Amino acid sequence: MLILRDLQALRRARAEACAGARRLALVPTMGALHQGHLALVAAARAAAETVAVSIFVNPLQFNPAEDLSRYPRDEEGDLAKLESAGCDLVWMPDVPTMYPPGSATRIEVAGPAQGYEGAVRPEHFRGVATVCTKLFSQTQADVAVFGEKDWQQLQVINRVVADLDLPVRILPHPTVREGDGLACSSRNQLLGPAERALAPLLPRTMQVALDAIRAGAAPAAELARAEARLRGAGFAPDYLALVEPATLTPWQGGPGRLLAAARLGAVRLLDNMAL
Ligand code: AMP
Repeated sequence: MLILRDLQALRRARAEACAGARRLALVPTMGALHQGHLALVAAARAAAETVAVSIFVNPLQFNPAEDLSRYPRDEEGDLAKLESAGCDLVWMPDVPTMYPPGSATRIEVAGPAQGYEGAVRPEHFRGVATVCTKLFSQTQADVAVFGEKDWQQLQVINRVVADLDLPVRILPHPTVREGDGLACSSRNQLLGPAERALAPLLPRTMQVALDAIRAGAAPAAELARAEARLRGAGFAPDYLALVEPATLTPWQGGPGRLLAAARLGAVRLLDNMAL
């Protein structure tokens, strides 16, 4: 497994690893890797001959109010996991390599980037879209694997790739969950024991609401009931919304996506499920 920290070395390694018609699948991450990320790596393995994983905690996608320095990091553990997962290239640029002095170009997305995470964290998707576009360009990925865990992010990336005619295929991967239903997340390790025990109430409450809506209950009333249940248990929900899966506009009937974000102590839990 090659560990690459500068762009020249990445370009050389990419050219060698993908000689002939070998395709490259990229899994972009911010590190602190867990089972969810490793499932994406396995999907990348199945999709292309060469697998690259990027680890970059992107300052552009954190708001000033969020603590970038508090984001979990575990370089040694991550590299050991990637080695066992059969990753070929690890791309770990530092901040000046990704954004050299004078860097002034940003990718601005409307449409699915508006509302929800885009409303709570105004600069977030500009940072995500910018870094992912750069990662696609740096690695010349043929395929990039993204988790459905971050549903809105996945729709934003699909939009960017379509709008900028980027020659990369986006491969979505279902959310990987812990045994108790909580979606795997690097931020879960910031939960205290009592919060960790309470956290699976979020997916359980979402499931109850979806079951009721499928059985014919009015979505607005069900979502209000779910939000009250979460608030009563000690969560601070930011939103619970049923939307059109690709555009994130209000649900019109047919396939839908239930999006949820709720704070529990100092951690923001994000989840989503299909209707
Ligand atoms: P992150 O390191 O949190 O930026 O996530 C990197 C990639 O892993 C993104 O495409 C996420 O959607 C994906 N991911 C994170 N958690 C999960 C999960 N529990 N199941 C599936 N994919 C995930």
